[in-house]
Amino acid sequence: MWRRFRLFFLIECLVLAALLIADARSKRFTQETTGTTAREDPRVALTFDDGPSEYTTSLLDGLRERGVKATFFLQGQCIEGREGIIRQMQEDGHLIGNHTFHHVQLTKLSDEQAKQEVVSTSNAIFKITGIYTAFIRPPFGEWKKGLDYNVTMIPVLWTLDSRDWYTQNTPVIVNEVMKQVDDGDIILMHDCFQTSVESALQIVDRLKEQGYEFVTVDEMIVE
Ligand SMILES: [Zn+2]
Repeated sequence: MWRRFRLFFLIECLVLAALLIADARSKRFTQETTGTTAREDPRVALTFDDGPSEYTTSLLDGLRERGVKATFFLQGQCIEGREGIIRQMQEDGHLIGNHTFHHVQLTKLSDEQAKQEVVSTSNAIFKITGIYTAFIRPPFGEWKKGLDYNVTMIPVLWTLDSRDWYTQNTPVIVNEVMKQVDDGDIILMHDCFQTSVESALQIVDRLKEQGYEFVTVDEMIVE
């Protein structure tokens, strides 16, 4: 009975999170058109997957100089030896999430293996930050629902793909984002390429000129 209740609660949470993400843009649009709320500045959430890497420190430095908060979805296997980078992320106010331990497609694993991938990464993050993250970006956008991960995990996908890992070309990446960006976007990038770090900081500068604010994904989805 208790297990069934917990399962039901987990499913409810996941559905709610998905609805909130999908609704973020339309809600803002409604507010603007009905005039019931004063116009807020447009907002985006920058998200970085696959790190931490040798390039993450320079990204953190650049974001700190610009007063910008972002969200980092970490691979468990990249954490050892880079604990200081993760401490710095936390100190700078970034949100830290889970990206599985070995960057695996969870839907291709058994329930037990999938749980292990998620929980071991959350544990590694907890050891450094003292926080058991609830946010996960499932690799390849494929989330395995309904498992008991010890804490209710909220899958966070994206609305704008910078394709940074594919092009690895700074002007192309910047252009890809700037031509599509809109209020409420969750932008997908990866902090394991020098070109991604350069692009991200250029994108921040350009979006700031356009009046954009930068939030972490928790702020975007619980608006
Ligand atoms: Zn990834």
